[in-house]
Amino acid sequence: MMSNKPRVRFAPSPTGNLHMGNARTALFNWLFAKHYGGSFILRIEDTDQERTSRKFENNLMEDLKWLHLDWDEGPEKGGEFGPYHQSERLDLYSKYLGKLISDERVYPCYCTEEELDEERLTLLSMRMMPRYMGKCRNLTDNERKSLERKGRRAAFRFKVGSGPIEFDDLIRGPMKFEGEAIGDFIIVRSNGIPSYNFAVVVDDHLMEITHVIRGEDHLSNTAIQMLLYRSLDFVPPSFAHHSLILGKDRTKLSKRHGSVSVREFREK
Ligand code: GLU
Repeated sequence: MMSNKPRVRFAPSPTGNLHMGNARTALFNWLFAKHYGGSFILRIEDTDQERTSRKFENNLMEDLKWLHLDWDEGPEKGGEFGPYHQSERLDLYSKYLGKLISDERVYPCYCTEEELDEERLTLLSMRMMPRYMGKCRNLTDNERKSLERKGRRAAFRFKVGSGPIEFDDLIRGPMKFEGEAIGDFIIVRSNGIPSYNFAVVVDDHLMEITHVIRGEDHLSNTAIQMLLYRSLDFVPPSFAHHSLILGKDRTKLSKRHGSVSVREFREK
């Protein structure tokens, strides 16, 4: 049951040590939850087995604790909306993938990395925005079967319609993206692992997140996520995209600027 207390989340991918920018995102979420008597949830986005590690996850939790950004639900704490590791939620993503397949909102795509690279380069050489042009969108059943017989494994792509995708951002106001510019995106890769955009929508919905507060580098992801909310019949949360921490040269704070992780500052 949805109460009127906000539920916000911090959803890091443990692929490195906690970045100052992410710590700031966590702080905004934590403050918002505390101010309104709501809940601050920690969710570990660890579906990418090759890039995530337990060590970074442990460091991350240690750094959050050091900053006194304690979570109400999440790893170590538990809670009624768990599990809080995406790697333990794969059955939930398959369930919703099944729904999107039967509603014909997605289709199997057999393109190889090489084919996709080639398409990207062709579009770039024509000075067009690289995006998937829908090669596998209208394959017949026979064509699909024959590709599978050749050993090709399918990823699943979402059929993006044309026309604007609009949402209101609590910080930036009305936002508008064009469907044409997005292209059919992958929601589940051929190895069965869900994409970030798909997993996040399923999780934010099931965890009853009321406000998504994150960096403005996620604005175009939010457009993609809106399409998923609509097609899954989920009510989207409110969105607030905050500015990013920049270096002296006004570009996004990165290692080039010096220390960027909470850990480095802590050690100093
Ligand atoms: N795992 C994503 C990241 O670290 C989460 C983004 C989000 O808040 O949706 O960028």
